[in-house]
Amino acid sequence: MTSKLALLGGPKAVKSDPGDIFKWPIITKEDEEAVLEVLREGKMSQTDVTQKFEQEFAEWLGMKYALAHNNGTAAINAALFGLGIGVGDEIICPSITYWASCLPAYSLGATVVFADIDPDTLNIDPNDIEKRITPRTKAIMVVHYLGMPADMDAIMEIARKYNLKVIEDCSHAHGAKYKGRMVGTFGDVAAFSLMSGKSLACGEGGILVTNDRRIYERAIIFGHYERHKYAITCSDLKAGAGLPWGGYKYRMHQLTSAVCRVQLKYYPERMAEIDKAMNYFWDLLEGVPGLRSHRPPKGSGTTKGGWYAPHGIYVKEELGGLSITRFCEAVRAEGAPCVPGCNLPLHLHPLFNTIDVYHHGKPTRIANLPEGVDIREPPGSLPVSESINRRVFTVPWFKKFKPEIIEEYAEAYRKVAENYEELLPGDKGDDESIGAWGLTFRIR
Ligand SMILES: *Cc1c(COP(=O)(O)O)cnc(C)c1O
Repeated sequence: MTSKLALLGGPKAVKSDPGDIFKWPIITKEDEEAVLEVLREGKMSQTDVTQKFEQEFAEWLGMKYALAHNNGTAAINAALFGLGIGVGDEIICPSITYWASCLPAYSLGATVVFADIDPDTLNIDPNDIEKRITPRTKAIMVVHYLGMPADMDAIMEIARKYNLKVIEDCSHAHGAKYKGRMVGTFGDVAAFSLMSGKSLACGEGGILVTNDRRIYERAIIFGHYERHKYAITCSDLKAGAGLPWGGYKYRMHQLTSAVCRVQLKYYPERMAEIDKAMNYFWDLLEGVPGLRSHRPPKGSGTTKGGWYAPHGIYVKEELGGLSITRFCEAVRAEGAPCVPGCNLPLHLHPLFNTIDVYHHGKPTRIANLPEGVDIREPPGSLPVSESINRRVFTVPWFKKFKPEIIEEYAEAYRKVAENYEELLPGDKGDDESIGAWGLTFRIR
């Protein structure tokens, strides 16, 4: 008898041509025209189109100020500076995120203490944050990982209790809502990447939002010298206006701004279709042993926006201990894009342990801390972060609601999970290379 599984000689679950279901971003004549206009008018380095985009983005979120940047990393750097983070300060950040959530702290003379994540939401675990607070802690960096809103009620309560600032990295979660309210509106400041792999995909770009005039102006003084003349009102900042305090030039390229304006205009409707498609996919897999969706409970008012880089949670104990490597291999044989792992735990990288970036004569992570203070976190310190890469796998990121196609992909995962016993004999276990330092190019 031949197997039901494609890996073992059976028929593939995915038979249809996916067409445009994965195509992203969606580029139309309108994007093209907007870009051509900037090109033809020679306005690449001006800020008029950018400021229109900022206004529209701020309105969409219901925030007072938005400041566009040349990428999301720059927006995070400016947000940290905006909060007044400086030499010897610590921020608390989840270990499972993209490096840009915390690494800009180094260039400010600050450092990072990592907190563990929750194994179901994959977001910073509020119960772990308190343990990571020291007398030097200034801010909590919240990442709404893979579009899943973090537990903002609990996080804001801790921030109030310890008088800490909150910064939201919304690079995975454009348009996501926590209990009915948009992410990026909870903390003191938020930053979004707008690079081409993200849900709101505009090219290379980023944007900072805040309701605090002083944070906004500090971000402008840091890397936007061309705006100093008219945008700076705080007297202490005004005294140093004209040159960028960070020594950075963070202006957004107006070809990006032009794309941003068109992409934002259509984003709410495109995002709604993604949400419908992804929820349909997971509804089809509800109750399948070994597989759990990574999505908020229905009816909670919490949503995942554009579902950046969607993953599922793997429970190998329900599948006879089948390795996630073997599981994904079998799903790929069915024709679906299944890759094990997510971002690697940052606290284990040499850059957070041994590397002396700025010639301090000691590792940069602890270079500006009081003598004898060591906040480094050796292997074993963050158990969930250290094991999560073997518990998550990618699922298709559908941009269109096309039920017949989505059903074939769901069937690929279901079929493998339901026939796991056939895969146990050839299982060589997990290979060492699960996970990556960035997601965008891995999931393609
Ligand atoms: C992409 C990303 C960033 C950085 O944005 P860039 O535009 O690539 O510089 C920051 N944080 C997270 C979580 C990201 O995924």
